[in-house]
Amino acid sequence: MLLENTSKILKRISHAAMRSGRNPEDVKLIAVTKTVDPATIKEAINIGLRIFGENRVQEARKKIEELRPEFANSKIEWHLIGTLQRNKAKYAVHLFDLIHTIDSIELAEEVNKQAEKINKQQRVLIQVKLSSEITKHGILEEQLFALIERIKKLENLKLEGLMTMPPLFDDKEKTRPFFRRLRELREEAQKRGVILQELSMGMSNDFEVAIEEGSTMVRIGTALFGERAL
Ligand SMILES: *Cc1c(COP(=O)(O)O)cnc(C)c1O
Repeated sequence: MLLENTSKILKRISHAAMRSGRNPEDVKLIAVTKTVDPATIKEAINIGLRIFGENRVQEARKKIEELRPEFANSKIEWHLIGTLQRNKAKYAVHLFDLIHTIDSIELAEEVNKQAEKINKQQRVLIQVKLSSEITKHGILEEQLFALIERIKKLENLKLEGLMTMPPLFDDKEKTRPFFRRLRELREEAQKRGVILQELSMGMSNDFEVAIEEGSTMVRIGTALFGERAL
């Protein structure tokens, strides 16, 4: 079932990219493995998936430590896509290739400090909050450029792009303005001389819309692994 789901998703990614005049290779599939057990992740690695997204540091740590020895020679990337608390920054820089969820100057500084300790250039994205939902994390648009300027000065951070999570809608077209806005913010950054490659946006329900609006990383869980038990 995982193989079938994966090939379906990869096809849909390609189609969405091509119909918006983009190269399918410019869209990376991040397999979201929160709540997925290590045996299933192994299966995913064996069918060729290489980038995995986790949203909890603790949960990820167990899985990564279990899987690392066996797959030390495969180029696997682990991404943190969930909220990062400052007191977990130390573990996060040990575990993750890319952190999608930097959303404050304080967090950026802490991650930089921990990365410096282990002599690492930590790749990061800034999570932007584009809706007024109080439950959503991310920095407000108005504060984004101040954060970008700050991060540019932090030597152990490598800022690669922006991430967002729109509110959930039944009608996926309603997510389009949020994805478009994130792309516009990247363009605005470029005008200010900051090149941001990555736009991490789109999940199982809305990834095709996100790709049409420029997504370079889609984060997909349910459509690959099935519904998560709560
Ligand atoms: C769980 C999660 C996803 C994947 O969601 P699905 O709807 O299962 O594809 C993507 N991004 C984040 C930040 C998540 O927490």
